[in-house]
Parts: sequence; C-alpha cells; structure tokens
Amino acid sequence: MNVERCAHRRIDMSRGLPSPEQIALSRPLLNLPGELPFASSDGQDWLNYGGLQGVAEVRELLAPILLGLPACQCAMGGNSSLALMHQTLAQAWIKGFPGALPWAQAPRIRFLCIEPGYDRHFAICEYFGIEMVPVPMCADGPDMDIVERHVATDASVRGMWCVPRHANPTGTIYSAATIERLGSMPSAAKDFRIICDNAYVVHDFPQDEARTQADALTLHAAACRAGHEDRVLAFASTSKMTIPGAGIALFGASPRMLEWWLQGQRARTVGPDKVNQVRHLLFFRDAANLHAHMRRQGALVQLRVRCVEQIFQRYLDDMEGVSWSSPSGGYFLCLRLPVGTARDVAHRAATHGIQLTKPGATHCHGLDPEDRYLRIAPSQLSLDDTVVAATVVARTVEAVCGKGDAR
Ligand code: PMP
Repeated sequence: MNVERCAHRRIDMSRGLPSPEQIALSRPLLNLPGELPFASSDGQDWLNYGGLQGVAEVRELLAPILLGLPACQCAMGGNSSLALMHQTLAQAWIKGFPGALPWAQAPRIRFLCIEPGYDRHFAICEYFGIEMVPVPMCADGPDMDIVERHVATDASVRGMWCVPRHANPTGTIYSAATIERLGSMPSAAKDFRIICDNAYVVHDFPQDEARTQADALTLHAAACRAGHEDRVLAFASTSKMTIPGAGIALFGASPRMLEWWLQGQRARTVGPDKVNQVRHLLFFRDAANLHAHMRRQGALVQLRVRCVEQIFQRYLDDMEGVSWSSPSGGYFLCLRLPVGTARDVAHRAATHGIQLTKPGATHCHGLDPEDRYLRIAPSQLSLDDTVVAATVVARTVEAVCGKGDAR
C-alpha cells in the first residue's frame, strides 16, 4: 500500500470508542422500558425519587458479574465509572476514609500508577495534585516487588490504580498470584486503597475464552482473607456493554466502605436514574443473555484487533525493538517501539491522515521517558479503515525505524 494514497482521508484511531455495529447491538434498549410492567422486589418505586443504592434486581444481576460482589455491597449511580472514581477520591480528600484524616490535610498523597496505563486515571491524579509513582507493567500485572516495597514502606502512598482484566492499553490480565499479593500486601498507610477499575471485566474475545480464565473478580476476596476488608474499591460500568454515555456505573466495596460512600451520595442526590437501570435489566434479562451479548460485542472488537495484529506481523515481525500486545479482550493493543521513536511515528502517521492516541498518554503526566509506546485503538473503525490505518502505522514504523521509505 502506498501511504500517500491515504493522505486525503483522516482516520481517527485515538480513542477506544465502540463501533456503530457494536452500538447497533444495543438499539433495542432505546425502546425499553416502554409500557412493560416492572415492580422492584424491595417495593421501591423506580419511577419516583429515592433508591439511593439503585434498583435491587439490577444490582443482583450486575454486582456479581462486574464487581465480584453481592448486590448488598454495591451501589449504582450515574453513567460513568470514572466520575464515581473521581467522586470517591474527592470524598477521601474532603472527609477522609473511615477512621483516617482527610487527604487534604496530609502533606502529600502519592498513588502507584502502572505504566503503560490509562491516561484518565493519571488525569484524575493530576487534578487532585496526587503525586504519581510509576510502576512497570509486567506480563502478569504490575511489578509486584516494586508495588509491595512502596506500599509497605511509604505511608504517603495511599492508593493505586488497577485494571485487573484486559488493562488499558496493554490488555494484561493479572495473574492469580498478582491478585493474591495485591490483596495481602502490608501497607504503611492505614487508609491505603486499591481503585479497582473493572472496565473490561466482561469484554473477552469469544474465541479466546480458554486464555481468559484467570479471575480478576477475586481481588476483594483476596484482600478480605488477609484482613484488609476496606482495601478494594471496585468500579465498573455498562459504557462499553451497551451505549457509551447512557449506561449504568457501579461502585462496590466492604459494607463499611459502601456506607461511607452512600453518606457522600446522600448529601449529593435524591437518587440515581432508576429508569435506565430498569431499562438495562429488561435488556440483559439474565447473566447468560448478558454474556451472549458481550460475546457479540467482543467478536466485533476482536476482528479489528486481529486485523491490526496480522498487518503488524506482516510488516514488523522481525524488527528489532518492535513488539505489540496480543490481547484476549478489552479494546486496545499496545505497540512498543525502539527508544526515541514513538513521537516521530505518531507525527508522521498523522501527516498521512492517521490520528493515534497522543504519544506519552500511556505514561504519567503524558510523558513516556523512553518515547517508545503507542496505544492502538481500532474498535471504532470499519474493517477497511482498520486495514488502511494499521498499514500506514506499520509502514511508518518501518520508515522511522530504518526498514523502508513509508511507501
Ligand atoms: N476505565 C478504563 C480503564 C477505560 O478504558 C475506560 C474507557 N475508555 C473507562 C474507565 C471509562 O469508563 P466510564 O465510561 O464508565 O466512565
């Protein structure tokens, strides 16, 4: 392919948006609940104010699948899990976690941030002035020797971001051993918390189920076994299950932490959008149907991800210092390049009309010190555009890293 042929078109591969085909799978949701009868088992009027924790049946369906928790340890509010994470840190900032001082009164608050990682987690840290401590991502999750050392010895380390299944952007699934160590490690700070972001917990690629058995939902249980019941604050949403921006967001934790969280909610709202919760319940119906829906979603993302992989394989297979992740779910691939080349590749790809996630976004403060990681987000593209975009990126890598002239 001659990359100049693409110059007249612009293809945006910068963010992990669901494709129109994916969203079409959830269109029937828009007609729900209609006039269908629904009465919540707890007697809550879902058409009126109230119901701070969310509709019981919806929690019963979603909390075990998305958070690994019983319905009674989950609350639903708003549409965005990121907003709930932000709000939780704000509450820690202003009020403090149970039995601890507000973080606003601490001279410094530090968070462990896994790199490559998710730029919006880093942006929340930046907003609060939380100092970010980078930890490298390994094949089976964060480098736990480094994590344990920081958490055990530094009382200013109060938190850590984790995406235990199909992490953004590497697609990593944490191993059972990593989950166990995260749950059981001693912490110098008594209010150390893991922000467990389950954004991709049911987003497996269907033909890869055998590869995706490790259970990310056991983190809370692992912490409880070690006596750290309050450590894990779990978040999820249906943003990438149904319609982004019109989903349901969930928070889950120990009973004590849930009560702490609901206190904040009580001061903030008279109740969440329960109509949308009921709409999702009527759409998903049960766990088997939800998983079937997610297999259809996963198949669509998988097509694009495998297409990118095949093209990278064709052009970049034997290139020194070049490798890419081969995820079994989630939305992203992570392209690793020779030191000092990622920015140049992204810049040149942009001149050929292919917009990639900003280089550096995978690292704290948007700065990849080695300038070598690019996030590849093909989910929203047509297959034709995926072929064009991946080919342009691959040929650009060849050109920048010394194997071709980008034609
Ligand atoms: N967490 C991760 C790891 C994500 O990749 C995304 C979506 N890009 C989100 C959270 C956003 O979730 P929500 O729509 O629920 O705010």
